[in-house]
Amino acid sequence: MMRRLADMQAEVLDRMPRLKAVEVALDDAVGSVLAEDVISPEDLPGFENAAMDGFAVRGAELEAGRREFRVTVDIPAGRFVSDPVARGDAARIMTGAPMPPGVDTVVQVEHTSVEDDLVTVEQVPVSGANVRRAGEDVTAGDVLFERGARLGAAEIGLLAAVGVERVRAVRRPRVAILATGSELVPAGRPLRPGQIRNSNSFTAYGQVLAAGADPILLGIARDDVEETRRLMAAALENDVVITSGGVSVGDYDFVKQVQEELGVERRFWGVATKPGKPLAFGVRGGTLVFGVPGNPVAAMVSFEMYVRPALLALQGRPDVYRPWFFAEAAEPVRGTKDRTEARRCRFTHEEGAVKFTTTGPQGSGILSSMTGAEGMFFVPPGYPGGDVGEELLAMLLEGSSTERPPFPGLQAS
Ligand code: AMP
Ligand code: MG
Repeated sequence: MMRRLADMQAEVLDRMPRLKAVEVALDDAVGSVLAEDVISPEDLPGFENAAMDGFAVRGAELEAGRREFRVTVDIPAGRFVSDPVARGDAARIMTGAPMPPGVDTVVQVEHTSVEDDLVTVEQVPVSGANVRRAGEDVTAGDVLFERGARLGAAEIGLLAAVGVERVRAVRRPRVAILATGSELVPAGRPLRPGQIRNSNSFTAYGQVLAAGADPILLGIARDDVEETRRLMAAALENDVVITSGGVSVGDYDFVKQVQEELGVERRFWGVATKPGKPLAFGVRGGTLVFGVPGNPVAAMVSFEMYVRPALLALQGRPDVYRPWFFAEAAEPVRGTKDRTEARRCRFTHEEGAVKFTTTGPQGSGILSSMTGAEGMFFVPPGYPGGDVGEELLAMLLEGSSTERPPFPGLQAS
């Protein structure tokens, strides 16, 4: 029974286990997901400070017409001055230095001229200009990030800025990657006739890393039941298993059989999608077991559609989908038969519309058209073919969204 992409994606995400939280130092948390809300312990900025190098004066005095001030104090970053600046006086102040009492406006140095201890304001800013208020970015006690937030560079930076040293993050899923096929040869070994390189392990490695999980390369299982069983047993000790190849209906496709022998409960096999039809999904205990097709593009697209959302959901991310939108064909669109087709593409902006153009031949083995692809567009089954300007669902291959894309497809049977 062939089922449609959207239902199978939902099936994978249903009853997803949650991984435990671990306490980690900030530098180890990059790319991880918060297991609890983080409340800011500090204001940011912690004190009122200058946003420019210049002279701190009273805005009211500028408004009253004063242009000359006596410079009585010098305040570099890191120096705190508690004596008020008197009327008619100015403080020479550097960016980030605390504003002294009495003044409320910074005239940037480029808008002044200085002679001895006298500064002349040549261009008058509005009262209160060039001053950063205490807490204007973050207020102590605010929820800085909610549980489920991914900690990218900016998030880690903000945590550091408010003095957070450690966070409770979701343990990263350990993902075993196993390539199958007697024709596969690892890099560094010569190719004999009929042999090919193992690329799926490396695309999966990159995709797993990008999803915030820890990839573990288990190498290549030849098409041999014993060897497949031995490596599969090792793979099943992890949170997630991704095998590539060996899930079609060929005589040497042992993956499903071996998984079943090892206690993997099959949830589904086969999705009405091109590429990526012979996708197998099952579970054993808390371990999610994905068998992605062997063809390199099918393997990557299957990862995108099923494994990535699962890896994010395991980590408690609400934004498990990719950003999507409807876009216009910049070239004629080929028709489909009985499956939803995902075609890799790039996007351009023309006349206020986002348009898509395929990156090249779309065969499920043509990996070069996956390189440089910014996204994919989806053509429904039974589509007769369409012209330039046709509107179809498109999805980015970067970023995240909480909204499930409305994948086209046949109704679930
Ligand atoms: P299979 O599903 O095992 O029949 O594989 C389908 C196609 O994908 C065959 O042409 C395989 O040679 C190819 N293939 C399988 N695994 C890999 C891999 N790890 N790297 C590159 N190509 C592969
Ligand atoms: Mg094979």
